Amino acid sequence: MSEISRRAALRLITFVAGGLPLVLSEPAVARRNQTAREALKYTERADGAKHCTNCKNFKQDYSQRGGHCVYIPDDDEVSPLGYCPLWTDRTAP
Ligand code: SF4
Repeated sequence: MSEISRRAALRLITFVAGGLPLVLSEPAVARRNQTAREALKYTERADGAKHCTNCKNFKQDYSQRGGHCVYIPDDDEVSPLGYCPLWTDRTAP
């Protein structure tokens, strides 16, 4: 291997290795289930004190922008401040 091609190979390895952490740290693509949202009459605006964060059906996903609702499958972006008529008080027994 000539000196030039060895340098080129080292640069390429350095470039790839330097970018690898960026590729690995990319968040997964969020999913959104618009059909289920519309069927539930989900909105991204709270109804007064009623919002997804204090609903029993919500699970926050700190690796995504939002969370999950048991009634909206395959959706990672349910807003903590969203609301739908199936809201259920998290503190209720
Ligand atoms: S049931 Fe409605 S209010 Fe409760 S988490 Fe799901 S979308 Fe939000």
